[in-house]
Amino acid sequence: MPYDIAIIGAGPAGCTLARLLDKNYKVLLIDKRDILAENSNSKCCGGLLAPDAQQMLGRMGMAIPSSVLVDPQLFLVRTIDFDNRIERYYQRFYFNMDRLVFEQWLLSKIPASVDLALGCTFKTCEYTGEDVRFSFTYKGKTYKESAKIIIGADGGHSLVRKSVFPDKKMPETYVAIQEWFETDNSMPWYGAIFDSTITDFYSWTITKGKVLIIGSALKKNNLALDRFKMLKMKLRDNGLVYGKKILREGAFLLRPGSISSIITGNEYCALVGEAAGFISPSSAEGISFALKSAYHLASALNESLYEFHSDYSKKVSKLKLSLFGKNLKCPAMYNRFLRGMIMRSALMSTDTLF
Ligand SMILES: Cc1cc2nc3c(=O)[nH]c(=O)nc-3n(C[C@H](O)[C@H](O)[C@H](O)COP(=O)(O)OP(=O)(O)OC[C@H]3O[C@@H](n4cnc5c(N)ncnc54)[C@H](O)[C@@H]3O)c2cc1C
Repeated sequence: MPYDIAIIGAGPAGCTLARLLDKNYKVLLIDKRDILAENSNSKCCGGLLAPDAQQMLGRMGMAIPSSVLVDPQLFLVRTIDFDNRIERYYQRFYFNMDRLVFEQWLLSKIPASVDLALGCTFKTCEYTGEDVRFSFTYKGKTYKESAKIIIGADGGHSLVRKSVFPDKKMPETYVAIQEWFETDNSMPWYGAIFDSTITDFYSWTITKGKVLIIGSALKKNNLALDRFKMLKMKLRDNGLVYGKKILREGAFLLRPGSISSIITGNEYCALVGEAAGFISPSSAEGISFALKSAYHLASALNESLYEFHSDYSKKVSKLKLSLFGKNLKCPAMYNRFLRGMIMRSALMSTDTLF
């Protein structure tokens, strides 16, 4: 018997959707990573849960267990503007998380009625007019399945999006690089670094236990690694102390410059979370968008499997508006002159006592 719904990707969007779908649907959830395995790799992420995402979890009745959190909890953003040679601190409230443990917790909330296929990589799909035939690989072998609806919850590099909507515009894509270093220095802030010689987006530092993460969202070209090295040198020169490198990781990161690059789907395929293009173009915060879009998609699918798309599209119009608003905010953050003026004015900044 074919599935009613096949979800590709068990990140925050896919897990939330699988959790909220009507138990009467026959649902399959696939992820290429075996997220529950002890040696599973985490998605490359800063692992900061922003207030919007905290609020959405709260609204859905989800209380984060302390096992998901890692020290230190961060109440300040240290903003370093290398273009204008200014630093300021701003108050923000994030949960500092272990991203893999967060995903494992989200997975643990999925009802047993959902078939979980971890370690399975989605490859192809084709709409027959009645259902969607799709293939995936597991341990080198190819398997085929079918479903009435296929969901692309497979993140910024979504293969579902590329397969079903090959001609649709993609949001601008950055390559994010993160390196982990040993550190004894627990920094009580999240570092946000602006430097137009490195990227027209931004870079960051986050401490997690005995690890310092240095990350950057860089233009997708062959200078990305050189620019990342330059960032590290500048940070060292600026006094950042860190030890031996533990690992380097990377991921594609979308930056939707206009809402025309958001695709919610069609009558047999829906896109959700970053696969649809839902991610903040100003901060790259994507978890709240993943949770919210999944919530809306679940409620549209629970209403009707056949007419869900127009309903979903309507339900996410507020999310699109929020992306539009974040794009309007970008010049204040990313135009060096405007940012310099704002930071010099010390508007909304926090005086530190250390
Ligand atoms: C470096 C970096 C740092 C970030 N930091 C933050 C942060 O601190 N806070 C924040 O809110 N957001 C952050 N984001 C954004 C955030 O990670 C994403 O927007 C969010 O995870 C999107 O959730 P999602 O469920 O849509 O997709 P994802 O979390 O990307 O999940 C997609 C899932 O699909 C699976 N998948 C992909 N392709 C296939 C396939 N072919 N077959 C099967 N499975 C597949 C993947 O394994 C993955 O589990 C960051 C992003 C990057 C790149």
